[in-house]
Amino acid sequence: MKIHEYQAKELFRAGGIPVPPGSVATTPAQARQIAESIGKTVVVKAQVHVGGRGKAGGVKLARTPDEAESIANDILGMDIKGLTVKKVLVTEAVEIASEAYVGVVVDRAIKRPVLIVSAAGGVEIEEVARKSPEKIIKLELDPLLPIHPFHARRVAYSVYDDPDVAKQAAKIIQQLVNVFWKNDCSLIEINPLVVTPDNVVTAVDAKINFDDNAAFRHPEWEEMRDTDAEDPAEMEAKENDLSFVKLDGNIGCVVNGAGLAMATMDLVKRCGAEPANFLDIGGSSNPEKVIAAMRIIMRDSNVKAILFNIFGGITRCDDVANGIVQAVQQLKPDLPIVVRLTGTNEQEARDILRDVGLATAPGMEEVVNEAIKLANKAA
Ligand code: GDP
Ligand code: MN
Repeated sequence: MKIHEYQAKELFRAGGIPVPPGSVATTPAQARQIAESIGKTVVVKAQVHVGGRGKAGGVKLARTPDEAESIANDILGMDIKGLTVKKVLVTEAVEIASEAYVGVVVDRAIKRPVLIVSAAGGVEIEEVARKSPEKIIKLELDPLLPIHPFHARRVAYSVYDDPDVAKQAAKIIQQLVNVFWKNDCSLIEINPLVVTPDNVVTAVDAKINFDDNAAFRHPEWEEMRDTDAEDPAEMEAKENDLSFVKLDGNIGCVVNGAGLAMATMDLVKRCGAEPANFLDIGGSSNPEKVIAAMRIIMRDSNVKAILFNIFGGITRCDDVANGIVQAVQQLKPDLPIVVRLTGTNEQEARDILRDVGLATAPGMEEVVNEAIKLANKAA
């Protein structure tokens, strides 16, 4: 789950990380009021769940409350990478002498979070990692041990020469790691971590993603959820208890079981195409889930064929077949559908599908190739 910069900054404040004062506004008039109460030059910042807002024109300095109001008026409603801006953060402007990057991300290969620090902040950290990896400092974090002050100091001193600045940065780094653990984050970033001309270190930007697997112990997340900003397909999937991840290909996949879903995606790739999604309808064979799955996949205009791959164990193939029939009747998809099902009640399922003119393929390879062939024909 993603949260906005203004929310991440609240968590930073609670964790003792210095952040310039500010609040969020949904109207230009509110933005003016906040600018008035700050009484200095402010920055008006688009609150959308995407990076690179600065480059997209979503981060602007305003010297007066008047200016803050008119800039907020420009930014509210703006489209940034397909997302509409509905809120702006109005925050005290900071003078910048240098910009660094500090973040904690999960490294899947080593199965641990890694602290990443780079003196080359502000710009896209992915670019720095690609072009000059030597500018990036990494420290693996141990889930069973806290980050010690000497760890944080070592990292901070490798970025900053001035001891006073390094000390402030070390404290911020330590607190950032603490905020990461305390809030079950999957990612936390300060980019840029700014040093001002008078050597004050402060977090000018803040990004936090929560690890959804920990939602059960964070009732406070519900209030922070911005349903406006979430992907409608992923929300609908969540409401229907489906595991869904959107991808960029054109083969829509409906599968029961995460393992089979992964295997299906692998096979789509091996046969030379790209899956449009990961989707696990789970162990039940509730027709409602099949209908929801198909509706979610049909939202994606990239999808050129829908592939069902069902293994009937506890799931009964005939129930899924009935779900497919209902989904086709209700949603009238304009897309080719191919189905492979095997296991419990597969013969009944084939009969049900044959009656409505849907063919089933016997094996995975056949059905995947069929889906790809039909998708290519439709494209
Ligand atoms: P992002 O583009 O979405 O990462 O948004 P940021 O909050 O990181 O802002 C982008 C850039 O705008 C920063 O890297 C800074 O260079 C600049 N910026 C943001 N806030 C301030 C500020 O308070 N003062 C100054 N001088 N520049 C700022
Ligand atoms: Mn940033």
